[in-house]
Amino acid sequence: MEQLKKYLIYLLDLVFPQKCICCKVKIRGKIILDAVCQDCFGKIKMTRPPFCTHCGMKLDFEPSGKKGCPFCRNNNYCFDRAFSVTRYEGMVKTIIHALKYGKKIRLAEQVSALMSAFCHDFLNLKEVDLIVPVPLHKRRFKERGFNQSQLLAESLARRLCLTTCKQVLLRRKNTRSQTRLDRRQRLDNVNNAFTCKNAQLISGKSILLVDDIFTTGSTLDACAHVLKKAGAKNVYALTLAR
Ligand SMILES: [Zn+2]
Ligand SMILES: [Zn+2]
Repeated sequence: MEQLKKYLIYLLDLVFPQKCICCKVKIRGKIILDAVCQDCFGKIKMTRPPFCTHCGMKLDFEPSGKKGCPFCRNNNYCFDRAFSVTRYEGMVKTIIHALKYGKKIRLAEQVSALMSAFCHDFLNLKEVDLIVPVPLHKRRFKERGFNQSQLLAESLARRLCLTTCKQVLLRRKNTRSQTRLDRRQRLDNVNNAFTCKNAQLISGKSILLVDDIFTTGSTLDACAHVLKKAGAKNVYALTLAR
């Protein structure tokens, strides 16, 4: 059996040589597709405290009392707390790009390990009842063929032994890409973009909202607003990067 397995891996290496998404070095002897090599993966730095106790922004000072980051002192997001696992730069940028636009969907499984480790360190998982991914508009979903946030949420849920529910939030507005917009425009862009479909599924529950990137927080804010209005007890937000 062992010999056969080795032979199959050897054949697979020959027919579909796997290269690391980041450094392009061949990944040998493993039946994996769309992966980051162990060297590169080990170099991804997870965000460590101190971070803002509200939005999760990395700070270079310990927040005292209710004071969070400069933004949260004057503004209120609808989510109770947000967390971002790592910074949106370097390899993480490459990975998210390959996942979203290069359709390397198996990367979601690999990076969900980072999200899971982060959750164990900084979230009270006993408080989480349900994981909800930020949805794509159905037209965008059809174009892309998948929702990267849903893939991340499902992989994370498997690792944390929690359940996901994609039947909760609906994106009714096909918002334009947020990347070139400033904060005000982003807020306008996502205003009324989401609606809650099955309020009974989340009533009184604590939700962990999952998305790939935290930019200004307006998307997560809009989702949290809708979830709270539909009766969610708490809404925590987790993104892979920020
Ligand atoms: Zn590599
Ligand atoms: Zn903050």
